[in-house]
Amino acid sequence: MSDAPRPTVVVDGKALADEIRKELAEAVGRLVAGGARPPKLAVVLVGDDPASASYIKGKRRACARVGMESVEVDLPASASQQEVLDAVAALNRDPGVDGILVQLPLPKGIDPNAVAAAIDPDKDVDGLHVVNQGRLLAGEPGLYPCTPLGILAILDRYGVALEGARAVVIGRSLIVGKPVALLLLERNATVTMCHSRTRDLRGIVREADVVVAAVGRARLVQRDWVKPGAAVIDVGVNAVDGELVGDVDFAGVQGVAGLVTPPRGGVGPMTITMLLRNTLEAYRARTGAGA
Ligand code: NAP
Repeated sequence: MSDAPRPTVVVDGKALADEIRKELAEAVGRLVAGGARPPKLAVVLVGDDPASASYIKGKRRACARVGMESVEVDLPASASQQEVLDAVAALNRDPGVDGILVQLPLPKGIDPNAVAAAIDPDKDVDGLHVVNQGRLLAGEPGLYPCTPLGILAILDRYGVALEGARAVVIGRSLIVGKPVALLLLERNATVTMCHSRTRDLRGIVREADVVVAAVGRARLVQRDWVKPGAAVIDVGVNAVDGELVGDVDFAGVQGVAGLVTPPRGGVGPMTITMLLRNTLEAYRARTGAGA
């Protein structure tokens, strides 16, 4: 194939997120109209990191907009790990709580793995409990991490064929890289996972029909890394001179990529949307209520 310029579809993650949130709001509306209580998300904030507080505000606002309830449990930065575990245990026991999310990062001295392990797997809407990781690995139903689910929703709604496609995932975190690779594999893509020790990253990416960049390195993926027509999903969030820049050179890949997500309004809005979807799924699984 030639590298001649071709139009690149720019994903409108916000419009897609709005569309899915509308469907979720309708589902919640049907539940409530039928006399059921709305689903409820509990968010735990430890400390007073302003970025975390703002993320939590956004998540609670998103819940309210689709008719879900939310409750916030605030603990001081000085809270011990046991106090955090106790707060999680109380939410596990509360039958009115369907989803539990502990906002990361946690203050130093609190082990995020211990906290994730304490959450009831059936309320684990971030999909970080080892039981849910195991369910994903086994291809069983479960609560999976939100950003990977959002990426799959983008690929599906934009009609990107995954069966037999060569997919390259850059980054192997538990929250994005590994789960998205498993979801792509589950959909019969041929998946290669890359990381900081990968040799000839450019050469590997260049073969991909689908690229997912979840690295945290501004504009790592350059124009000449991308196979013409490839779908490029940029998860990265990097601040460069006060500007939000992805892991992909967004301007550079125009005319080569078949599809690309923008640094703002791409994957981001889909992540919270999948948190809402997971909360509704947790509610349905726990209460047996349909919608
Ligand atoms: P992370 O835990 O920081 O891991 C980064 C991964 O990138 C690691 O696997 C690392 O390899 C790999 N890596 C680092 N430098 C590399 C290089 N030069 N070449 C190839 N691989 C390299 O990442 P994360 O939590 O998944 O986050 C990744 C990015 O996505 C961040 O910018 C984050 O802010 C963003 N993010 C966005 C959303 C959203 O909703 N939009 C959600 C989550 C994360 P090693 O394993 O070898 O160290």
